[in-house]
Amino acid sequence: MDPRRNSHWLKEAIAPDEEDCPSLGGDISADVCIVGGGYTGLWTAINLKQQEPTLDVVLIEKDVCGAGASGRNGGFALSWWAKFLSLEKICGGEEAVRLAAASAASVEAIGEFCAKEDIDAHYRRDGWLWAATNDQQVDAWDSTFDAAARYQQYPFERWEAAQVGARSGSTRHQAGIFEPGGASVQPAALARGLRQAALARGVRIFENTPLTKLQGTGKPEVTTPNGRIKAAKVVLAMNAWGIRFAPIHRAIIVVSSDIVITEAMPERLEEMGWRDGMTISDGRMLVHYYRTTRDGRIAFGKGGMNGRWPYGNQVGTKLDGPTQIADSVTSWLQWTYPELGQVRPADSWMGPIDRSKAGLPYFGALDGQPNVLYGVGYSGNGVGPCHLGGKILASLALDKKDEWSECGLVRPLGRDFPPEPIRYFGGKLVRGAIARTDAAADAGRTPDPLTRYLAGFAPAGLSPFKGQKT
Ligand SMILES: Cc1cc2nc3c(=O)[nH]c(=O)nc-3n(C[C@H](O)[C@H](O)[C@H](O)COP(=O)(O)OP(=O)(O)OC[C@H]3O[C@@H](n4cnc5c(N)ncnc54)[C@H](O)[C@@H]3O)c2cc1C
Repeated sequence: MDPRRNSHWLKEAIAPDEEDCPSLGGDISADVCIVGGGYTGLWTAINLKQQEPTLDVVLIEKDVCGAGASGRNGGFALSWWAKFLSLEKICGGEEAVRLAAASAASVEAIGEFCAKEDIDAHYRRDGWLWAATNDQQVDAWDSTFDAAARYQQYPFERWEAAQVGARSGSTRHQAGIFEPGGASVQPAALARGLRQAALARGVRIFENTPLTKLQGTGKPEVTTPNGRIKAAKVVLAMNAWGIRFAPIHRAIIVVSSDIVITEAMPERLEEMGWRDGMTISDGRMLVHYYRTTRDGRIAFGKGGMNGRWPYGNQVGTKLDGPTQIADSVTSWLQWTYPELGQVRPADSWMGPIDRSKAGLPYFGALDGQPNVLYGVGYSGNGVGPCHLGGKILASLALDKKDEWSECGLVRPLGRDFPPEPIRYFGGKLVRGAIARTDAAADAGRTPDPLTRYLAGFAPAGLSPFKGQKT
């Protein structure tokens, strides 16, 4: 299947005549075998080679590098400051501040890396706006803002309605907080650039090479259709596809995120006043996120659960290709930007999100399999954080004892979600309740008690809300 169909970004970033890396055709050995060619796998590979240039690092990818979420996302490169409450709960205040600051530094470092390596990932550091599009969302950020302030950290500016409207080009926005450090990228161009950087450092990349089996005890062995890899360490950097492994299955649920993109219309954006690369998320539970592109398009996404949920422990291709809810996402774009009238999308797509209960990733080694490492659960916020994930996983793979291998997000995978069929049918109930909660907020109503109860089981999102059972 042509990976270009998985997003507008991939179409732009992979030239028609570009050759894939070879697939594995025989048995080999390596110091480290990374499974998954997205940001997590590629940053890990690059970090390993930067630290130990002679290390033999192999990366296998079932498709081509960037074909997963890394080539399909919204391109918001954000820090963890908006998730500070969850971070504080997991790691304690001091470590939460250190990691949030490190995640902000990662956003900057991605830009520096692209500049140094000549990667044209359309990197723009024009900030991120967390905006309210209904009354109930106004001030949803207060608890996050105040928690950071308790540690004398002030990553956000408060913006009133007039300023938000003028900068975002939409009067739907009633208020917001702005994080100047946020950046945006053309996500697939970043992934493909990292692939080049890894190859240039001597990482052996095998594309169209899926892991079919893992023997994880002792010296691990990865099986693929036409060859096996024996490695001292294996790094599972498979995002949602990692749910094929039982411990990862218990720690995340897989939900979709769906995006539409318009034709280029730079003059309209100029008229509306949305003149730079500022990215915007609203405060609903099934979040809306939107941005402009360098050629003047709007990409508009809706997070969380379009209803196509993988049952059991396989994601496969269920969340590949065009989204089935393009009309609904387009109508939200039109609602947010009524000035655009009946604007139609030029393209649409979807992709899987590895949602953890707290909305933050897990890093570590599988229980009883110390040489098999995981980095999973970014929960729709991975463009910036995968850079940090690469440092953490590289330190773990090198058995280093340092600020990354011992950081607060290195922890055992949680047993946070139930087995099937409860997960599937319970998930549908919770998803319905979340959608009704958002609709009630739009209508200025309070949802009924059962809806509130069920919505309370939602994993932590951007906006903390009353009754959430995190
Ligand atoms: C539609 C969408 C919008 C998003 N928007 C944003 C955003 O704006 N900002 C943000 O920060 N985050 C966003 N995210 C999340 C972000 O894209 C991810 O957190 C990030 O890309 C994760 O990178 P990764 O390397 O862990 O996973 P991936 O990029 O998914 O990489 C995993 C790779 O593993 C490969 N793989 C799977 N199974 C196997 C196997 N058996 N053998 C070999 N390889 C295998 C896959 O093909 C894939 O390439 C979004 C995600 C989606 C889907």
